[in-house]
Amino acid sequence: MTTTAEQTAESHVFEADVARLLHMMVHSVYSDRNVFLRELISNAADACEKLRYEAIEKPSFLGADAEGRITLTLDEENRQLVVEDNGIGMSRDEMIEALGTIARSGTRAFLERIEASKAAEGAQLIGQFGVGFYSCFMVAERVDVISHRAGSQEAWIWASDGKGSYSVSPANLAEVPSRGTRIVLHLMEDAKQYTSRWTVERIVKEQSGHVPVAIRVVEKPG
Ligand code: ADP
Ligand code: MG
Repeated sequence: MTTTAEQTAESHVFEADVARLLHMMVHSVYSDRNVFLRELISNAADACEKLRYEAIEKPSFLGADAEGRITLTLDEENRQLVVEDNGIGMSRDEMIEALGTIARSGTRAFLERIEASKAAEGAQLIGQFGVGFYSCFMVAERVDVISHRAGSQEAWIWASDGKGSYSVSPANLAEVPSRGTRIVLHLMEDAKQYTSRWTVERIVKEQSGHVPVAIRVVEKPG
């Protein structure tokens, strides 16, 4: 194989409603940016739950790694926060569907309500309407989502700066976890506090105490 991810990256544009939503997220209607972490952790926990469910029929999906796990890796030097789970993962098509469109009829209502709402209500609305993933663009100037669906022989990288388009390219299987999703947040300059253990642990405790999957916080060895 001589192809590289760059050579095979396909560019896609976001659905109009997603672009609109992202614009609003970034131009912060929200007073509380911390909610992005709650949303990513909740998605990671959902993915672990989906895996358990699918594994009832296909026990091989669990392999020797049956326990759900969420790992937050702090990389202060590179100003990155990585949220990783060993859940179900996403196929290429699932990524495009889940992260590039809003396949929900409530979206327009959400957009209308949020445009009319005050900042404090905005944060609550994010979770309620299930547009949680996009909230990471409140703190990240670029987001890479590397995902390997359980049982699949392929892994994919979704990447975006949240400004209208995203790319999808194949990942090298040797370089990705055997299943699950790794979300790399390239933090904005004014969001570098999300590489601080003290800050991240405090937010996790405040927002995600009820999550039924173990959450570890580790520092990337520098
Ligand atoms: P919701 O969680 O309400 O569906 P989100 O915007 O938070 O909305 O996530 C959109 C979709 O993206 C999820 O429904 C799921 O299909 C997919 N997704 C997001 N994060 C992950 C993850 N860590 N693992 C697997 N799928 C994910
Ligand atoms: Mg969610």
